[in-house]
Amino acid sequence: METNSQQRLLACRHCDLLQHEVALQPHHDAHCVRCGARLYRGTRSRLDWMIALVLASAILFLVSNLFPIAALEKYGVYNATTLTGTVLTLYHQNRPLVAALVLGTAILAPALELCALLYMLLPLRACRIVPGLAHTFRFVLATHRWVMIEVFLLGLLVTLAKLSDLATILPGLALWAFVGLIATFSAVAASFSARDFWGWVETIRAEDRR
Ligand SMILES: [Zn+2]
Repeated sequence: METNSQQRLLACRHCDLLQHEVALQPHHDAHCVRCGARLYRGTRSRLDWMIALVLASAILFLVSNLFPIAALEKYGVYNATTLTGTVLTLYHQNRPLVAALVLGTAILAPALELCALLYMLLPLRACRIVPGLAHTFRFVLATHRWVMIEVFLLGLLVTLAKLSDLATILPGLALWAFVGLIATFSAVAASFSARDFWGWVETIRAEDRR
């Protein structure tokens, strides 16, 4: 794919030192000679693998939002709640700040990040570069900091554990989807590398120029 990888220059993200890229063994890292920060990995993530992870996350995200997280059963009365239901309940309990926090970190931020990733990656698969790619890329990096599904899930489990004294808790489909989503989202974060991403873009641009 890349014929000029031996001559490529890249700047350290921490100290800006320009260094030549060298070929690495898989699972080895290249570090900056001046500050020791990691420059890149020998293992390259593949575009197809990234798209698969993002699509899996998107499906799990939809399931976790559409289906009940848990149902409470007391005296034969069932009370199921969804993620949006939880936000609304918090809001009606006069806790608008907590409601906004859950809405932002567990619904909006992951939704925006997944949409932005799909917007960039899917056309890339078809060798197309979307308009506003650099902005979308920076947007993904910015929203990622606000994705806190695991914090939300932890809070939810603590709440459910407390409620289990009062009622029977029946875990819903969305709860399992959430657990899966945390796994796939972590995998997306771990495999998404800026260097690989711009490498895919460069390859397509180079093919277009031909
Ligand atoms: Zn450095």
